[in-house]
Amino acid sequence: MTHLASTDSALPDSHSQIRSQFPTLTQMLGDYPLCYLDTAATSQKPQCVLDAMAQYYLQDNANVHRAAHQLSARATSSYEKVRDQLQVFINAKRREEIIFTHGTTESINLVAFGLTPQLKSGDLILIDSAAHHANIVPWQELAKRTGAIIKPIPLTQDCRLDLNAYQTLLALKPKVVALCHVSNALGTVNPVIELVQQAKAQGAITLVDGAQAVAHLSVDMAAIDCDFYVFSGHKMYGPTGIGVLYGRFEILDTLTPLLTGGEMIKRVSFDGTEFGSLPNRLEAGTPPISAVIGLGAAIDFLQLSLTPEVKAHEAELLQYLQNQLRALGDVHLYGAHHDNIGAVAFNLADEHHQDVGILLDQQGVAVRCGHHCAMPLMQTLNLKGCCRASIGIYTNKTDIDHFIAALASVKELLL
Ligand code: PLP
Repeated sequence: MTHLASTDSALPDSHSQIRSQFPTLTQMLGDYPLCYLDTAATSQKPQCVLDAMAQYYLQDNANVHRAAHQLSARATSSYEKVRDQLQVFINAKRREEIIFTHGTTESINLVAFGLTPQLKSGDLILIDSAAHHANIVPWQELAKRTGAIIKPIPLTQDCRLDLNAYQTLLALKPKVVALCHVSNALGTVNPVIELVQQAKAQGAITLVDGAQAVAHLSVDMAAIDCDFYVFSGHKMYGPTGIGVLYGRFEILDTLTPLLTGGEMIKRVSFDGTEFGSLPNRLEAGTPPISAVIGLGAAIDFLQLSLTPEVKAHEAELLQYLQNQLRALGDVHLYGAHHDNIGAVAFNLADEHHQDVGILLDQQGVAVRCGHHCAMPLMQTLNLKGCCRASIGIYTNKTDIDHFIAALASVKELLL
């Protein structure tokens, strides 16, 4: 295959401007331009995020909250400003409902650990069968500590959450319901507003994993109305090492802190310690300050760039990607629906996903291969693994055409 020149003449100028903000995307891999279709694993970063982090280290580098000096005041102000930005970004009621963590994984661990005193033996925890391991293992650990029981919420044949089975399970009055908003492996979308409403009607505590949603959708805590919503900065054009836990104030305030130490206390003596109030109570130790500041820049970027037109463009591209894969022939698609978001899971005939991934990489195409941290889902699909192509705000039609041409040549080679 010879590499493709840009064929994105129909692309709006504003989209080309968005793409040009991502320095990594201009590179060549050997003879091929980079075709990055692994955004669901981590997104590329726009220049403004890199600049914001550099600015902190170049001029404002100091620890937050603790000192009287000007650098610390500047760092604290930049850091706390991001909490305000996040409150607006996800429409939370209070800034104290935003907790900085290191990522989605830590956010869910913080909730699952923090709920320990509230669960007892026999309590039921329902988990989405398409969940990422980050939304399974912390609940299993909670179940070990408390004697709670875990039940997966089954999927239908076409990989959507089985709403009838969900109703049956909800009738058992689960204590916790853990859902994903968008599946990282398949790109399927859950109707979280309805699912949360139904779970709450049965008295359950609800957590929604939004790691694959926030970069593509507007998420609104008042509308979703869950108790907890979690996501990672690095999947929404921000840096690694920063995540968010949103919690409804009344329940967030009941969580037992996972980490204790500096920053989260009001008073410490050898007779005992009094914890501080939210949000500090759940943010022990020095936080990832530069990453928080980078996340702030990513939110600014998203708020400016993720317009309805850009969202529509992303949706069209995903459709195009699904259709081109179908048209290629000998490709199995998994759970590929018209309303999916961000990702397509596939295998090329019976070829091993890893072989396909390596051969694509040799043509400049980055996709992910394996179980996608969703082994139970792979078991349901009766697969050892699959390839996943995932798109972001910068992906264009040229990328999809490059990928399909590369996969066609892999097909020619292997089949
Ligand atoms: N949940 C979902 C749906 C994900 O896609 C991921 C990452 O791939 C995670 C959780 C874990 O995120 P992190 O590794 O940033 O903690």
